Amino acid sequence: MSGSSAELHRRRTTAVARGVGSVVPAYVARAGGGTLVDVDGREWLDFAAGIAVTSVGNSAPRVVAAVRDQVERFTHTCFMVAPYESYVAVCERLNALVPGAGERRSALFNSGAEAVENAVKIARHATGRPAVVVFEHAYHGRTNLTMALTAKNMPYKHRFGPFAGEIYRAPMSYPLRDGGLSGAAAAARAIDVIDKQVGAENVAALLIEPIQGEGGFVVPAEGFLPALREWTAAAGAVFVADEIQTGFCRTGDWFAVQREGVVPDLVTLAKGMAGGLPLAAVTGRADLMDAVHPGGLGGTYGGNPIACAASLAAIETMRELDLCAAARRIEATMLPRLRGLAERDARIAEVRGRGAMLAVELVRPGTLEPDPVATATVAAACHRAGLLVLTCGTYGNVLRFLPPLVISDDELARALDILDSAFA
Ligand SMILES: *Cc1c(COP(=O)(O)O)cnc(C)c1O
Repeated sequence: MSGSSAELHRRRTTAVARGVGSVVPAYVARAGGGTLVDVDGREWLDFAAGIAVTSVGNSAPRVVAAVRDQVERFTHTCFMVAPYESYVAVCERLNALVPGAGERRSALFNSGAEAVENAVKIARHATGRPAVVVFEHAYHGRTNLTMALTAKNMPYKHRFGPFAGEIYRAPMSYPLRDGGLSGAAAAARAIDVIDKQVGAENVAALLIEPIQGEGGFVVPAEGFLPALREWTAAAGAVFVADEIQTGFCRTGDWFAVQREGVVPDLVTLAKGMAGGLPLAAVTGRADLMDAVHPGGLGGTYGGNPIACAASLAAIETMRELDLCAAARRIEATMLPRLRGLAERDARIAEVRGRGAMLAVELVRPGTLEPDPVATATVAAACHRAGLLVLTCGTYGNVLRFLPPLVISDDELARALDILDSAFA
């Protein structure tokens, strides 16, 4: 039942659908801290963390103990059939962690896309309005509704339509590519599109990633999010922060909206929240969450007891190890190194991001023309040298770095040395 990565890859091509891709053809045997080890015994430094999931590390001790204990007691009852404490406890934690002083409620799901779908359901139900406003470069998932919310055609949407209706796309604040528009000016531009093309009174929800993930780690100009927050409050629309990638200490705060003091009505959560087990949530204002009739929200596996046990342990680990501070330390180590690289290499147009969510955007030197080929070449050089990095961006020209927040100083230094050599 085992074999080399090359053998497994051959088996895969005749067993696994071609539409499911992998960044590297290395099959994992074990992982922990800041590294993965493949079945050939090769060690990889991990700048992916399973796409910002294993913030507490792979097989983090508390998570392993909690999962082991839960799996021995019971594995599934379905919370909608016979409930259990850990689901309630996760909701209590989330309600206390998200920004805002008022009463909060939560509901648990399996994936980020499912959380986004449910946030839209709740916002539409509570407001009685149809329209959902999303942004250029947005990524919200791969299900039918979330494909419609996602901006990029290839590979996410191509020939998978028709898509859900009543989705409207507004211009994003993207300082590198909008001439450095201020946050207030970029928000005014977006609000003008919404007012004229949708109509404020038709908007159920404005859905936005505080820092865009798959769309290119785009950090909106200061003031953009607060201005949109203010507009939704005046318009009676629900402000939904998609913190699926940015949440749970990734950006140096529990949630990225906290940097500018923005209090969302609803927050979608997934990825980092359960130490690698599949769990997602919508958390938000009690009046909105409780607007939905009993039975209107749920799913067979949502808030599975093993995932809930893992989440409680992961959140405890984040607190105990102060992983928000760890993310800020990672930023303090990485930013000067990335900026030094950008000074030496004219292909790097911008270094951006926050905490342990950092990226470089690559262009043809002297222009803003995206260079996805150079980006793929540098990523491939990193992979050959044993550093797992990911690319992203509407133009495929952004190298992004998402180390586990528990990565050691030594692992981080080795990873940055590989990155330097890969650019050279
Ligand atoms: C990953 C991601 C999603 C989708 O989550 P899945 O668990 O893959 O369905 C939605 N929004 C953002 C911002 C994401 O990064």
